[in-house]
Amino acid sequence: MTELEKILTGQSHQHIYWLSDNVGIHHDMLRDYKSMQAAAKAENIELKIASGFRDFSRQLAIWNNKFIGRATVKDQQGNSVSLSALNDKEKIHAIMLFSALPGASRHHWGCDIDVYAPNLLAIEQTLQLEPWEYQAAGPLYPLALWLTENANKFGFYFPYNKFRGGVAAEPWHLSYQPIAKQYQHQHSETLLAHTIANSDIQGKIELLRSLPNLYQRYICNVASYQA
Ligand SMILES: [Zn+2]
Repeated sequence: MTELEKILTGQSHQHIYWLSDNVGIHHDMLRDYKSMQAAAKAENIELKIASGFRDFSRQLAIWNNKFIGRATVKDQQGNSVSLSALNDKEKIHAIMLFSALPGASRHHWGCDIDVYAPNLLAIEQTLQLEPWEYQAAGPLYPLALWLTENANKFGFYFPYNKFRGGVAAEPWHLSYQPIAKQYQHQHSETLLAHTIANSDIQGKIELLRSLPNLYQRYICNVASYQA
C-alpha cells in the first residue's frame, strides 16, 4: 500500500497534528480550524472536538463490538436496536446508519471532526452526540445555528446534513473541504475491498458481497461543500 492509501484507510497517522492526547486533526487544517474556533469564541461558543482522527484499528473495534452486541446500536430516533435477531446483512445496515466501515471512515482522514460546545451544556450534562442535542430546544442548538451560518467561511461543511437513505443526519460532523474533496476522490471501492479482505472484521463475507451497494449508499452518498 502507498502512504496515501494508508492515510485514506486509517492505517497512517503521519498526517495528524495532535491537539491533545486523544484528539488529532490533519496538519493542513489546523490554521482554519483555529480561526473558526476563535470566531465562535467571540460569539460565546466554545467550539471543541469530541472526536477527530480515528485510526483503522479503533474503527474496527467499534464495528466489531456493535456487530457482536457488545456495544449499543441506535436507530434514527435514538432507540437501541437489538441485533441478535438480525442476519448479517441487516446488522450491517443497522450499524452503518451511524458507524462507518473500517477503512471508509472520514475520521481516518483527519479532516473530519465531531464538534460540540462544552459551555452550552449544563453542568453534569454529558455529550451524547445525538440529533436532539443539536435541534431546536436542544442545548447545542446555538452551535448548530452558528455553524450553519459560518462554518463554510472557514472551509467546513456538513457531509451528513440530512438523511439521504445512507448515513443518518449528523449535525455534529464537519468536514474540511480543501482536504476532504481530494481524499473523497482518491478513495475507492477497490481500495476498501482490499482493506476489508485483509482485516479481522465481523461480517466480512456479506460485506464483500454487498460492497458495491454499500459503497454507493453510505460512502458516496454525502452532501458536497455548501459555499
Ligand atoms: Zn463524525
